[in-house]
Amino acid sequence: MTRTGIVKDERYMNHSMGDYHPERPERLEAIYAMLQEPDMEGKLRQVPVRLAEKEELLLIHTPRYVETLAATAGQEYTYLDPDTQTSAGSYEAALLAAGGLCQAISMVIARDLDNAFALVRPPGHHAERSRAMGFCLFNNVAIGARYARKYLHLERILVVDWDLHHGNGTQHSFEDDPSILYFSTHQYPYYPGTGDFSEAGRGQGKGFTVNVPLPMGCGDGEYVAIFEKILKPIALEFSPDLILVSSGFDTYEGDPLGGMKVTPGGFAAMTRSLMGMASACCSGRVVMTLEGGYNVEGQRDSVKEVLKEMAGLAVTEIEGLVAGADQHFLDVITRCVREVHQSYWKNL
Ligand SMILES: [Zn+2]
Repeated sequence: MTRTGIVKDERYMNHSMGDYHPERPERLEAIYAMLQEPDMEGKLRQVPVRLAEKEELLLIHTPRYVETLAATAGQEYTYLDPDTQTSAGSYEAALLAAGGLCQAISMVIARDLDNAFALVRPPGHHAERSRAMGFCLFNNVAIGARYARKYLHLERILVVDWDLHHGNGTQHSFEDDPSILYFSTHQYPYYPGTGDFSEAGRGQGKGFTVNVPLPMGCGDGEYVAIFEKILKPIALEFSPDLILVSSGFDTYEGDPLGGMKVTPGGFAAMTRSLMGMASACCSGRVVMTLEGGYNVEGQRDSVKEVLKEMAGLAVTEIEGLVAGADQHFLDVITRCVREVHQSYWKNL
């Protein structure tokens, strides 16, 4: 049986941005309760959670920004950004989010686990080098990727960001770095405003940032087809040692912030598609980390389907979904990506 790890800790609930904020502790409480359901209980292995080390944070963030966040510890309320505040427990939760993900990555690379999902908050992909943004404090996935490069000596890492929003912070972290390929699907134009097709990296990193901005209304078929037809050829050519996923569930059909139509079955299919790429390139090594997702029940159900797929408790058939996607729409999207990227990726 597949050994799937989960990062889970009650201290992630101690980060609160107020009763009416969509990025709330209830998001994780619902996921953790789901893990106790009869068909899930005992199926996953718990990763020992740890705090991120300062050196790990500094792989992505400035010393001054780390100090700014550290100073919020124990303070009732600190305003960082129009959408982002901290409470007394936020700094510790943020350290545990980045540290928990690094721990999961190191266990997968050491082959103590086959794959893992860090069920953490706060999320990370909007966090920039020197500022908090869009509900994010530390950029967990970016720290995890650099950690895997520096401390686990991996050569190439693919970061797939399927959150509704573009991961501006992650893109900016690796724009000039050909060893970390950032691939993002996102609603566009939308918050945070970045992520056009033309943003493709710079310097040595040209071609290693792949953006697939999408109009509202995309569903299971479109997402899986984009993974199979655009991401897969690039991923196989890049041949990563590890696939990290910024796993947001705000593309869920009932999300209050998003306009996409992905169902729990669609997330399962996207997971299956990524696992196919990972088994071809890197012995199936996929590590996901939770980003957004604001329909609490929809996110819980979707995370469950993703975990079942990762643990081999379900194997979703994806061919039918790919065939059923809007082909004309896909042709248009594929052409836009090709125009920017065909000189970098011969398989595309
Ligand atoms: Zn999001």
